[in-house]
Amino acid sequence: MLTGKCYCGKIKYEISSEPISVVHCHCGNCKRSVGGPFTTWVVVTESSFAVTSGELKTHLTEGRVHRGFCDNCGSSITYNPLKSDTIDITAGTLDDPDSVSPKKHIWDRKRIKWITMDDDLPHFSEWSQNAEPIE
Ligand SMILES: [Zn+2]
Ligand SMILES: [Zn+2]
Repeated sequence: MLTGKCYCGKIKYEISSEPISVVHCHCGNCKRSVGGPFTTWVVVTESSFAVTSGELKTHLTEGRVHRGFCDNCGSSITYNPLKSDTIDITAGTLDDPDSVSPKKHIWDRKRIKWITMDDDLPHFSEWSQNAEPIE
């Protein structure tokens, strides 16, 4: 069981199954909406994610994804595509981020040039589905 919360603690959540994946996303949407130079997402099935305290405020982005955040402190917590049964959770809001392991970088073509990581993970130019990693 993974648990997490927003900065102020109004929103608390649980994840009841193993993550499907953990990705570093360098896309422009994540930069603007989360505020960091990239965002690390824990991808889980929607049915395994539960808010146990408070209520996520959502913002519809790109017409197809609800981003969930705390309306008190502003912490970004979820990325929830409407046409998918998965939901992404910001790794930074986990109580124990060391308990998950990033698997890849996506949207590498949008990566800020001063972000370099020698983590030996595959990099994908855009979304990784059906794509070959780039060198
Ligand atoms: Zn909060
Ligand atoms: Zn992104």
